[in-house]
Amino acid sequence: MTESSAAAQSPQSSPSPSYTTAVTVEDFRRNLDAVRARIDAAAKRAGRDATEIRLLPVSKTVPEERLRTAFAAGITQMGENKVQEAQRKSENLADLGISWSVIGHLQTNKAKNVAAFADEFQALDSPRLAGALDRRLQAAGRGLDVYVQVNSSGEPSKFGLEPDDVADFLAALPAYSSLRVRGLMTLAANTSNEARVRECFSIMRRLRDAALEAGTVGDGLLSMGMSGDFEAAIEGGSTCVRVGQAIFGARATPDSYYWPESSEANQSQTDQPPTNS
Ligand SMILES: *Cc1c(COP(=O)(O)O)cnc(C)c1O
Repeated sequence: MTESSAAAQSPQSSPSPSYTTAVTVEDFRRNLDAVRARIDAAAKRAGRDATEIRLLPVSKTVPEERLRTAFAAGITQMGENKVQEAQRKSENLADLGISWSVIGHLQTNKAKNVAAFADEFQALDSPRLAGALDRRLQAAGRGLDVYVQVNSSGEPSKFGLEPDDVADFLAALPAYSSLRVRGLMTLAANTSNEARVRECFSIMRRLRDAALEAGTVGDGLLSMGMSGDFEAAIEGGSTCVRVGQAIFGARATPDSYYWPESSEANQSQTDQPPTNS
């Protein structure tokens, strides 16, 4: 399957399907400059300081050789959705000193992998996982920056805590002393209905503000916004946008592999991308 036909068939394909694949250092610089310019413009519209908005490039599915080129263009932190893929890349690119962020749902039995190499974990969503991560981190003698993932869209296909459960979950996290709670993370509704997308971001901001008031969310950072919606996310208060396709180019792997149609489907998934057979 070609990249373009995969993008066309993806149920979650972006509203602007024209992401060109970055191959050279110059390609990466051009894409990065364009994304940063859009971040700056969105921040300005919102009356915010653009330097408080972090750009986390999302490198999932991109082969290691192209990640070396991306690094040469100045990309020093990379977000990955799947822990095995992230760990393999971190090992094969260890000479570069990239900072790895795991941004996808994690099964408890993979906590040890994250504890071994990740610099940050953005998808914390259960006490069981917090416990498993903390045990592994304590054993390794290290800490980990974490974001708590919230299902702000109500879509059954999305991971994360229900908004109503966030306050109690945050209040329980100090028991896991190796986890440094930095903020909240979400994937907004996958829809062209912009009002619905913006409502996800305002739910997050209200949860964050309440948690700051309660003193349970560390710095109160907000990780939200991707290639298709990062400008709205910045206007909604995001401090970390996770951008893949607008930097690296359109993905051949359908997003349904990363965001299964249902949580049950995810329980039985294998570590291999789906084939066309
Ligand atoms: C893939 C992914 C992104 C980036 O999506 P793009 O459309 O490539 O910008 C952001 N967050 C998560 C959790 C992802 O899995």
